[in-house]
Amino acid sequence: METPQRLELGCDALDELLGGGIEHGIITNVYGEAGSGKTNFCIQAVVSCIRSGGKAVFIDTEGGFSAERFLQMHDDEAALERLIMHEPTTFEEQKGVFDDLPQVVANELPDMIVVDSLVSLYRLNLNGETAQEINTELSTQFSTLSKLAREHDLPVIVTNQVYSQFDSDENVMVGRDIPAYWSKTLLELEKVRNGKRRATVQKHRSRPEGITTDFFITQDSLTSAEGTQDESVPGADRMKIF
Ligand code: ATP
Ligand code: MG
Repeated sequence: METPQRLELGCDALDELLGGGIEHGIITNVYGEAGSGKTNFCIQAVVSCIRSGGKAVFIDTEGGFSAERFLQMHDDEAALERLIMHEPTTFEEQKGVFDDLPQVVANELPDMIVVDSLVSLYRLNLNGETAQEINTELSTQFSTLSKLAREHDLPVIVTNQVYSQFDSDENVMVGRDIPAYWSKTLLELEKVRNGKRRATVQKHRSRPEGITTDFFITQDSLTSAEGTQDESVPGADRMKIF
């Protein structure tokens, strides 16, 4: 058994927090409130993968990916061609993308997979069809990702929205136990004061739970924030999402 390979993000604070970067072979779930930096985290990871000569599958379910933002972080238009984009707009379309994913990976041999976010279309559907059917499909999609991660030794990043409970300050992941079960790394992002973001390891195979680091989102990257000890603003910027 070897130490897992890691994809360095290129943000020292986050790479150190994760024990060297994003692990290959498992699902890393980056979750947090709107604007906490999930999509920026994904783009930085993809940029890092492409910079080292790789290509990435990027499943964007909410139009969050921006070529303009990508080019701010990596000024090379040709690099965009090393992104294999899928943009489902319904959970049914997302199911189709996941049904085809093993074939896409076999044909294109990508170096990583990103799903931003896995649960936004799922959430919209929960009102319609039976919750059990939708939950089963979400588990199937996680299972597909987990298998691909293992079989091809790929880093897989999924993002996850959260909602706040009425009686608690804790953010709960949309999909609850399903993402928590399938993701070997859970990384929570929060907004803190003055534009700062905080990342907390909530689950990891080889890092202690609860360790945190702070970073900023800047024009060209995610950047370590050193020193200041601002407190999180309880309840700030939370959205009620069900
Ligand atoms: P959502 O749940 O809505 O998808 P998210 O967690 O994906 O949110 P991001 O889109 O990654 O959040 O982060 C949005 C933040 O990134 C905003 O606060 C925005 O101001 C910041 N941001 C975007 N581009 C830049 C930039 N060029 N320089 C500094 N900050 C930026
Ligand atoms: Mg986003």
